[in-house]
Amino acid sequence: MMPRKIAYGANAASEFQYPENSLIITTTTPDIYEKWLNYMGIKKYEIYDKVTPDPAIETIEEIKKKYEGKEISAYIGLGGGSSMDVCKYLGKLTGIPKILIPTTFGTGAEMTTYAVVSFNHKKKLLQDEAFLADAAVVDPYFLPGTPFNIMRNSACDALAQASEGYDSKLANPFTKLFCKEAFEILEDAIMNDKQDLLPYGAMLSGIGFGNSSTTLGHALSYVFSNEGVPHGYSLSSCTTVAHKFNKSIYYEKFKQVCQKLKFEPLKLKQSLDEAADVIMPDRGHLDNNPIEVTKEDIIHCLDEIINKNPLE
Ligand SMILES: [Zn+2]
Repeated sequence: MMPRKIAYGANAASEFQYPENSLIITTTTPDIYEKWLNYMGIKKYEIYDKVTPDPAIETIEEIKKKYEGKEISAYIGLGGGSSMDVCKYLGKLTGIPKILIPTTFGTGAEMTTYAVVSFNHKKKLLQDEAFLADAAVVDPYFLPGTPFNIMRNSACDALAQASEGYDSKLANPFTKLFCKEAFEILEDAIMNDKQDLLPYGAMLSGIGFGNSSTTLGHALSYVFSNEGVPHGYSLSSCTTVAHKFNKSIYYEKFKQVCQKLKFEPLKLKQSLDEAADVIMPDRGHLDNNPIEVTKEDIIHCLDEIINKNPLE
């Protein structure tokens, strides 16, 4: 599955025909998005700019209520993963079409049937065909000005998704085609400082892993995210160790890119045993890992991540 319409490339967002009376949903501030909207040439719209990272279901319900009866023709998610996730969930609730426009490039969320929404302060990864965008607009215009940290974390996420997706048990020749191409483009973008290629790489990664799955690297990473480490950052060490465990063809290449991006080793507050107990029930990721993973394997991987700098 992928969006019915994909507009990609320089000027894609300015050439796209946006329906009138759209509701734009963004996490950014007016000084930034006014410039963007001007570039997009969008007219006659509503805007909701109070989405915060890790959006809660209450925020989504509130937006739905606020615009009921206003004959919104489409939702436009403009921003990082959070803006797009809100649109995806809203679209499922109301059936109104959604156009997703990423401004940071890594999750590939504009291509997938996944959405992350918080219920009772707990992030939940949801999957539903109804989350799929009606149109995705991917334009490198939004890339310049992205802080280095956000850029590298996003790039690492896209690389991890592409390579874990390639190795996933759910992969097939068609999804592997996207994952392989995504990895090569992202690797070239980072190793040879061609950042303009990141949006395309992330988009292909989204199609590839979105139709297979991520695996052990992502499963290991969430105990670090729960302690406040950004998603992409935690994947630098976690996916490296997972690739080593799985004897992935991407082990060396992934590690080299992480070295180039100068990721530091990770720390963990909880004990390895406690962390392994959190990771083991994550069947969605572990069952799709190419090799079966025991609790002892998880503890071994965690030990390698925090005690033996896997990126050295
Ligand atoms: Zn990810």
